Amino acid sequence: MQATGLGCSYHGRAVVSDVELSVPAGQTVAVLGPSGAGKSTMLRCLAGLEPLHSGSVRFQGETLSRAGGRPRSVGGRIGMVFQQFNLFPHLSAAQNVALAPVRARRLPKKQARAQARALLDRVGLGEHADHYPYELSGGQQQRVAIARALAMEPELMLFDEPTSALDPEFTREVLAVMRDLADSGMTVIVVTHEMNFARQSADRVVFMVDGRIVEDGPASVVLTNPRQERTRRFLDQML
Ligand code: ATP
Ligand code: MG
Repeated sequence: MQATGLGCSYHGRAVVSDVELSVPAGQTVAVLGPSGAGKSTMLRCLAGLEPLHSGSVRFQGETLSRAGGRPRSVGGRIGMVFQQFNLFPHLSAAQNVALAPVRARRLPKKQARAQARALLDRVGLGEHADHYPYELSGGQQQRVAIARALAMEPELMLFDEPTSALDPEFTREVLAVMRDLADSGMTVIVVTHEMNFARQSADRVVFMVDGRIVEDGPASVVLTNPRQERTRRFLDQML
């Protein structure tokens, strides 16, 4: 995934500016930064969920740009998980996971059901496949949401503060699933405030302020020896 000169704006106000971000396959990148820095907006631009104001995003041979709109094939290859799980309340965990593959990938129902069960197993929810969202904890619901994103067989997973709505005990379970994903060779970009996750599971940390990337390097370097004073202040606050 390669973003070049990426800019996004709302109502004429630049929210993301001049972002250069090239993420090789298999890398896990943690995006940190204060509230309002543009982290979510950048993620949404990378996913093709927001129109770009400037620059381009290249992914798997497709290019998103201001003129180009969203190539259809890009969407399916990028999975996105948000802070709010947004599961369909009237569908079981397995049905939530199987829905998009049947609708969008035209996978036969039987195959989609089998895939859903395998994915729920993978995120530690094999026992809960037939449970409805209201019967699941927040952490379990978030793991269903991850399985649902994986069901589309994405090549890139984007997470936007996937654990910030969760209690610490449930946060751990979700981070463990994300760590497995990262270790499995998935390309992952995650906006997070979980410093331990960034330290232990990210290959790379990007720090954003005022819509710009002001720090970008190996997790061990950015987290212990940032170049910018404001990164240092932010990190001090987090610890
Ligand atoms: P947080 O850590 O609080 O989630 P963030 O880094 O994700 O913050 P963004 O949500 O990307 O920040 O927001 C960046 C800026 O863009 C903020 O000033 C915000 O008010 C503005 N913004 C975000 N979404 C919209 C929108 N849909 N319409 C108008 N302005 C928006
Ligand atoms: Mg955000």
